[in-house]
Amino acid sequence: MSMENNKVTIVPCEDYAPETVRAALLRALDPLGGLDWVRPGMRVGLKLNLCAGRKPEAAATTHPVMAAELTRLLRERGADVVMGDSPGEPFTGVVLNRIYAAAGMAAAEEAGGELNRDFSHRDVSFPEAVTARSFAFACWLEKCDAVISFSKLKSHGLMGMTAAVKNLYGVIPGTVKSEYHFRYPDPMAFANMLVDLNEYVKPVLCLCDAVDVMEGNGPTQGTPRHMGALLAGTDPYEMDRLCAWLLNIREEEIPYLTAAKERGLLSGEGTPLCREEAEPFRLTDFQRSGATSSWFVSRPGDKPFRKMLKKGLALILRSRPKLYEGCTGCGHCAKLCPAHAITIRNKKAVIDRSKCVRCFCCQEFCPSGAMRVQRSFVARVLSR
Ligand code: SF4
Ligand code: SF4
Repeated sequence: MSMENNKVTIVPCEDYAPETVRAALLRALDPLGGLDWVRPGMRVGLKLNLCAGRKPEAAATTHPVMAAELTRLLRERGADVVMGDSPGEPFTGVVLNRIYAAAGMAAAEEAGGELNRDFSHRDVSFPEAVTARSFAFACWLEKCDAVISFSKLKSHGLMGMTAAVKNLYGVIPGTVKSEYHFRYPDPMAFANMLVDLNEYVKPVLCLCDAVDVMEGNGPTQGTPRHMGALLAGTDPYEMDRLCAWLLNIREEEIPYLTAAKERGLLSGEGTPLCREEAEPFRLTDFQRSGATSSWFVSRPGDKPFRKMLKKGLALILRSRPKLYEGCTGCGHCAKLCPAHAITIRNKKAVIDRSKCVRCFCCQEFCPSGAMRVQRSFVARVLSR
């Protein structure tokens, strides 16, 4: 296994047996100097992906054994470990306790970790930001001496995929996240905001659970797919460049990688590090989310005519949320929709398309999988 610049590495991890996961973590961390930076008494925050109350087998959340085994390694170094996330639902004990239980986080507690129960947040300012110069920030992470981002590799409606960079969207508390979709409706503005969050938090380490990834209707209602890998690194952008390559998605189609490149945070060369080591794990037939939002993001160096063309194409080719069978009329989507574009009529969700900003929060948080991303008619015809 080679390690170029200690920025990213990938190792096999065939299943979620504790001994397999522990061995994979040690192997992945070794080229990064292991956990030598951890000091006794240090408080380490694990920012997991706990986006919804789904069982570990659904591949929507960071697997509890991953969190548990990392906790054990950190505890052996004398660190205190606290872990959590802020999903799109209200950032409260009731919601988080339900998600912790569903996602099997008791295993991480048994390993000596603390599940976060501080649901306060405060406004922070970040003058160096490109987009988010001030934002609401979950306080539990502020109280940590170091933050580790432990993401899950999945397809994603708005951003094409979610891994290390998108994982930090969870530092924004609960339903405030929906407001941010409204504040940054353009995929590139949203992408820049994600990069701002990564630059603010600067996790000391990024890990990505890619043993079972999610394809199709991600990031919560897609289909689990075995990849058998664990990624580790110090650079979230390089990690996600490799993740995009693993899922056979061109990095130009991931808006936040474009944003990172424009800001000089990711080299423009486009060759993922560790590509040779990653080859056995690559899913060339990975099923992507139906969304096309990221296709029309202007790239660095695009001429004005090309930018205009993309804007025009976006108008006719952009995907939209669509209700399929299985809606229970629970109203969850209506509560979360930042544009207030959804009402419940006759126990079914109805979308006012004139208000919709195509953030796909409704698709992401629909508990029954009834709300999905649908490509436009023209995009469907063209892709036949
Ligand atoms: S679309 Fe989903 S979230 Fe919305 S009302 Fe129907 S079941 Fe509930
Ligand atoms: S209807 Fe869905 S995609 Fe449209 S703004 Fe509301 S949550 Fe976002």
